[in-house]
Order: sequence, then structure tokens, then C-alpha cells
Amino acid sequence: MFKKILIANRGEIAVRIVRACHDLGIQAVVAYSEADRFSLAVRLADEAVCIGPAASSRSYLHPPALISAALITGCEAVHPGYGFLSENAYFAEICAACRLVFIGPGAEAIRLMGDKAVGRETMRAAGVPTVPGSDGELSGVEQAVEVARDIGYPILLKPSAGGGGRGMRVCEHEADLLRSFATARAEAEAAFGNGELLMERYLRDVRHVEIQVLADQYGHAIHLGERDCSAQRRHQKIIEESPSPIMTEALRQRMGAAALAGVNAIGYVNAGTMEFLVDRDGAFYFIEMNTRIQVEHPVTELVTGVDLVKWQLRIAAGEPLTLQQHDIVLRGHAIECRVNAEDPETDFMPSAGEIHHYLPPGGPGIRVDSHVYSEYTPPGNYDSLLAKVIAWGGDRHEALDRMRRALRETVITGIKTTIPFHLEILRDAPFRDGAISTRYVAELVHRLKQARLD
Ligand code: ADP
Repeated sequence: MFKKILIANRGEIAVRIVRACHDLGIQAVVAYSEADRFSLAVRLADEAVCIGPAASSRSYLHPPALISAALITGCEAVHPGYGFLSENAYFAEICAACRLVFIGPGAEAIRLMGDKAVGRETMRAAGVPTVPGSDGELSGVEQAVEVARDIGYPILLKPSAGGGGRGMRVCEHEADLLRSFATARAEAEAAFGNGELLMERYLRDVRHVEIQVLADQYGHAIHLGERDCSAQRRHQKIIEESPSPIMTEALRQRMGAAALAGVNAIGYVNAGTMEFLVDRDGAFYFIEMNTRIQVEHPVTELVTGVDLVKWQLRIAAGEPLTLQQHDIVLRGHAIECRVNAEDPETDFMPSAGEIHHYLPPGGPGIRVDSHVYSEYTPPGNYDSLLAKVIAWGGDRHEALDRMRRALRETVITGIKTTIPFHLEILRDAPFRDGAISTRYVAELVHRLKQARLD
């Protein structure tokens, strides 16, 4: 096992990785930007190295600074967390060239899955069902019109290099597509430095269900069941749970087998997630693979009892995955709410400033992954995630009740948070009944606005 690693990330995930290191007796070095000098990860780390100014492009996204930090502190490996350089094949290659183990899959797998068009083609070739769509990237608007006629409206234009739900556009008919194509391309170019677009049929009444996998360097891979992330605002997840309310044992087996077929086809190593959309008939379609740890990993940890971040470290260190598929038994139900520094009253505007008082919830079945504390001012340079509140219960009902209790207990003063919005969702009948699609949150926001006007 490693003696010392560098954490090339910040926020709650940096804290999460420090904790896994300490559980395994590994020394954790945290790389931090000037804006993160007072972060909890820095406080909890064994060592911390400043890697540059607040702007991510000059710190968390700047490989020379991170590699230097790892080398001068004598680290053997680099954990990239999520976001930032976690899905950057070039960074994985530089780590390897500097004899640092990149805690994640090989550069080749990252590259294949980082390009959505290539990822979808690769999975289709491996026999994984995919959303009907263009064969790779669209050459121009003429081809887009042709492909759309073929697959049928509504269609979705997606940036090939996209992430975080940004830059996707639904087109209901041809006039829409003709109007949107050039703008979508320009937006993708501006956001991701790559204007390539692909097209998929837009599936309306679907849930987002993803399969967590672990694979070691010796060809052994297992899946750890699913997470349902249908509660999304603007294609970004806000609540995740496991198991999915719609899951059956037969469907889990089929989806698990498809996920593992994908993993094996690309010789994938480490933790990863295969994302699917599932329709009312239980048909599922691959949308993308995330080649890193995900924000919502704790719900899987709570129902399986498996520490995913510890396994990431063990696998990267060359240990075999000793878990077998039959060891994975989902027990009870877990749900996660992402508490963001945003004001639900003003259309989720970011809320900045000092947190005067922070008191996290506790009690039976509650876990909190957070990076904040009283009198801390979260820097405004990065994402707005303050805390993930995760509740476990013997069944979904108990998990939801504990979550509601925990969110009511939570004290965060000085800034606005999304806790009131989560409480609305938790008391809303369609959500409680587990009867939602990926469009649910948008519909709820609309309903709440109407109710306020009436
Ligand atoms: P990103 O990488 O930007 O997160 P994804 O491809 O993972 O983009 O999609 C994010 C979300 O967008 C999905 O969870 C789903 O809600 C929606 N989505 C993506 N593709 C489709 C599709 N073909 N039809 C309907 N919704 C889709």
C-alpha cells in the first residue's frame, strides 16, 4: 500500500479522501489554492502544499503545479477526486511519466469514455444498449437534419466533450433544430473548448439509473448495484438514492451484466460508473461512463457496506479486488441530498458569505460529508456544494423520514442553502411515492412558482 499520496482536489471530496487515507494508515498531502488556505481538508491533512492562485486554471487544473507538489512531498500517487483533472487523460499520462500512480483508470479508458460519441460507439460495439442517435459527431447542420429524420423527434443535441449537464438542447421539430444547431455548437466550443455535437433521441419519461463498478488490475470486476439520480435540476443531480424505487432483481441483473460487459470491453480498472436512462417498460440505454469517483458514491457505500474510496486506493496500489459479486448484497435504503449554497427563493442564485454557525445533523442512520465549519467563508471560485447529507433506513420510508429529520436539525446560518427545497421535495407525493422522471424537479419548481402566484 502507498505510504503517502497527494489529493489534487478540494471541498468535501478532498476531506473524504483524507479520511480514506487515514483509515488505511496513508499520509495525505492536500494540494490547495490560495482561496482554500483555510479549508477543512488542509486542516485535516498531514501536509498541505499551496499550488497557486484561486483561479482553477492556475491551480487545480494546472498539472505542473500538482505534479511538483506531489514530487516535493515524496508522494507515490495522486487522487484526482471528481471534476477538475479527474477525467483528463493527459494528466493521467503525466502522472505516469513522473512515476506517480494516478488513482483511477488508465489514460486510454479515460480518453475513450471522455468523448461521448466514442464512448457510445464503444459501448454499442460491446453489446450495451445505447440511446438511438448519430454515429459519432455531426459534421454539420445538414447531417443533423438527416439523422433527426431518421431517429425521430424530439432529439437532444449534446456536446461531445460535455459534463455537468451543460450545453444540452432539446429540439422538438426540424425548425427548432435549424435554429439551434449553430448556437449549440458555439456554446459547446465556449464551454468545453470543443464544439463537436452528437445527437440522441430525447427520451421523455425516463429515470436516470447508474451502476457502480469496481475493477482491479487483474481482470476481476464486480458491480455494486444502482443509484437512482432522477431528481435533477437542469440535468444536474440534486438527490440520489439506492436502490432505485423502480428496480427489480431481474432488471438489476440485466443492467449489472451490461455494465460489466462495458467495463470488460475496455479493460477498465478502478471505480467507475455506467450511466443509463430507464423507461417505463424497464428498457435501459447507456448514456455515458464516468471514469472516477462520483459525488453520490456514499449511498452505495451505505447500502453495500463497501468503502469505495478505500478500494480505489487499494486497486491503484495493485491489490486484487477480494470482493466477489455474491458478496454484494444491498441492505436497506440510502438517500443523499446535496446541500448547496444557493437560494431556492431566487431561482437558485449562488449565496456567498461567511457561515456564522454550522451544526450538522446526527443520530441513527445519518452521515454527513462536508467541508464547512462555523465562521468559514466558502470561496466563491468553485462549486456551491456545502454538504452531502446521507440517510440510511431499513426501507425507503425510514430513510426518507430520517432525511427529513436530519435536514430539519441542520443549522447553517449566514448564507442561504437548498435545504428548504429538499424539504419540499421530501414532502411531495410523487417523490415520496418514487414515481418521478428526470423532468420531475423542473415540474415541481413550476408548481411551486404557480402556488406562490395564486
Ligand atoms: P453530462 O455529462 O453533462 O452530465 P449526461 O449525458 O450524463 O450529461 O446527461 C445528463 C442528464 O441529461 C441525464 O441524467 C438525463 O437526465 C439527461 N439526458 C441525457 N441524455 C438524454 C437523452 N437522450 N434523453 C433524455 N434525457 C437525457
